[in-house]
Amino acid sequence: MEYLKDRIRKDGRVEGKDILKVDSFLNHQIDVALMNAIGEEFYQRFKDHGVTKILTIEASGIAIAAIVAQYFKVPMVFAKKTESRNLDAETYESSVYSFTKDKTYKIRVSKKYIQETDRILIVDDFLANGKAANGLIDIVEQSGATHCGVGIVIEKGFQDGGKILRNKGVNVQSLAIIDRFENQKVIFA
Ligand code: 5GP
Repeated sequence: MEYLKDRIRKDGRVEGKDILKVDSFLNHQIDVALMNAIGEEFYQRFKDHGVTKILTIEASGIAIAAIVAQYFKVPMVFAKKTESRNLDAETYESSVYSFTKDKTYKIRVSKKYIQETDRILIVDDFLANGKAANGLIDIVEQSGATHCGVGIVIEKGFQDGGKILRNKGVNVQSLAIIDRFENQKVIFA
């Protein structure tokens, strides 16, 4: 998706050897026009999969997933990272290791919001080592629903997540795949 790649080249900031900050348009301030283009692109790529629900993980997946859901005209559900008294007692749970925060956290989705008959499209902002996507796939599998694929806005191709998921047969569609960082610049695959 050239429009997205141009924006990453212009406004993305490389931090250290493996982190890209996109706070000015995706992760903190949000460019809603760009979000709409992303939603439309995921719709084009997955529209024939009979998607009944969009699943993501809080916090940065929420804005993306909400707009994607609008294109599919289906509900969006996000996995919660925090234990909350408001969350239903009956939940699907998985553990996710975050390399950006160097910690493992639990994600939870109420059993009320995923049915066995659902066909679920998972979306997230970044794909690095694939832990977040794997946790979401784990939750879908526990529920007996079907996962139709994983839609990622920015995949860092130099980390293993994409390879691991594709080797498992998961349909991963990434709108921008980064090959490497060179002199603080983003080089796409
Ligand atoms: P993974 O679980 O695939 O290792 O990492 C994906 C998750 O970590 C995403 O949900 C995203 O929030 C975060 N993440 C991984 N790499 C980056 C990055 O380079 N920049 C930002 N902003 N978030 C990242």
